[in-house]
Amino acid sequence: MKVRTRVAPSPTGDPHVGTAYMSLFCLCLARQHGGEFVLRIEDTDAARSTPESEAAILESLRWLGLEWDEGPDIGGPYGPYRQSERKDIYGQYVQRLVDEGNAFHCFCSAETLDEMRKEQMSRGETARYDGRCMHLSPAEVKARLAASEPNVVRMKIPAEGSCIVHDRLRGDIEIDWSQIDMQVLQKTDGFPTYHMAVVVDDHLMEITHIIRGEEWINSAPKHLLLYQYLGWEVPEIIHMPLLRNPDKSKLSKRKNPTSINFYRRMGFLPEAVVNYLGMLGWSMPDGEEKFSLDTMISHFDLNRISLGGPVFDVDKLKWLNGRWLREEFSDEAFADRITDWALNRENLLKVIPLIKERVDIFSEMAPLTSFLLEGMPAYDVSAFNTKKQSEEDLRRILQFVLWRLEALRDWHRDAINNLFMELGEALDIKIRDLLAPVFIAISGKPVAPPLFDSMALLGPDICRARVRHAIEVLGGVSKKQLKKLEKDYEALNRS
Ligand code: GLU
Repeated sequence: MKVRTRVAPSPTGDPHVGTAYMSLFCLCLARQHGGEFVLRIEDTDAARSTPESEAAILESLRWLGLEWDEGPDIGGPYGPYRQSERKDIYGQYVQRLVDEGNAFHCFCSAETLDEMRKEQMSRGETARYDGRCMHLSPAEVKARLAASEPNVVRMKIPAEGSCIVHDRLRGDIEIDWSQIDMQVLQKTDGFPTYHMAVVVDDHLMEITHIIRGEEWINSAPKHLLLYQYLGWEVPEIIHMPLLRNPDKSKLSKRKNPTSINFYRRMGFLPEAVVNYLGMLGWSMPDGEEKFSLDTMISHFDLNRISLGGPVFDVDKLKWLNGRWLREEFSDEAFADRITDWALNRENLLKVIPLIKERVDIFSEMAPLTSFLLEGMPAYDVSAFNTKKQSEEDLRRILQFVLWRLEALRDWHRDAINNLFMELGEALDIKIRDLLAPVFIAISGKPVAPPLFDSMALLGPDICRARVRHAIEVLGGVSKKQLKKLEKDYEALNRS
């Protein structure tokens, strides 16, 4: 049997280190067995999926050297590899499940479902679909479908008993069917949900090993039942431990940069990032922490995956990166890499228009532009004018700026400019007062090249990280304060 693994990211945001982590383990398992590693794009959530995000995911995995054998860009014998292009395929199987009595059309409106949920909760029960449409007569279903009444298709779930999920790393996990909802398989718009699409695709693409995050364990019973309904063989399932913040919560961008592009832009080496991700979930037989992708592949053994919650520690990654630079890079190679990274002609040509008017001699260039090469500029709270705006006000402004920046899709000068104009208006503050703290956050200095151009050049990952850093320097925002700010922000967006 040929080993086939897949990574299946949803293109709904920045390329996440978690995607690289899964890809790495999928790649190692496939390569070790002379098998194939597939990249599939799970874009059934049409409202949130974007081609830009898909392109960024592909680009960042490629930067890391995690190359796939089949995928939306290179094709392959099991394509298409984008779920949005496979709609008709899923439709057939949904129909089959309905025809064979394993799934049913549900016509319940959002209000009905809401009421159902509230009633169940008031009785202290877990909210789940109560199955009412399952009992509609075939004639009624036919008539309502003929009248094009909006509906979803849900799967039937056994009324009692439990399901055993065999996880290669965790052994048998028993989950009661009473915990499992009658999952929607096909939405009103005819698109499948993740649960339907993932089962159909993993089967049709002949995936032998599903490696994914542990957050999917509770979904596994639904998937297993679908395999059973459709009479298909179940692949091996491996739920990897989730990457965590230092406080053990699930890795989140509020506490740790999660975008692969951030690490690239900060000047980490792809070799070190891959090594670090490998080290988080796996160890070499001799305990050596520094290893290349090829070494990991040749020594790979699923049994050496550790289940402890791996903490993504940027300082440790930095330490490892330093080892790579010192131990593996000649001065020549160092020079080549740093040139590729930022010190190249193309980049200089972007910087020069910003500083030409501001320097008389070359030696004035470095102090003016150092912030374009830095990670987090060094400054403390005294850099901000806290006499004019309190620290709390500054944190509030910067948090709103951060949310706007996180939502900004096309990152260029004019869009950044508009963003601040609109936010200034919505907050009803002078644009100067809005931009002053952002200036410090981004450049660390009161004098620097024009802000919007600099931000365009620095890119979204570094800018967002710097604004987040500035909020921390100003004392940080507690969970409770964040809730309040979220409410204010929503009100702001409505006004
Ligand atoms: N699209 C899912 C995700 O982004 C894939 C989960 C899986 O691997 O089954 O997490």
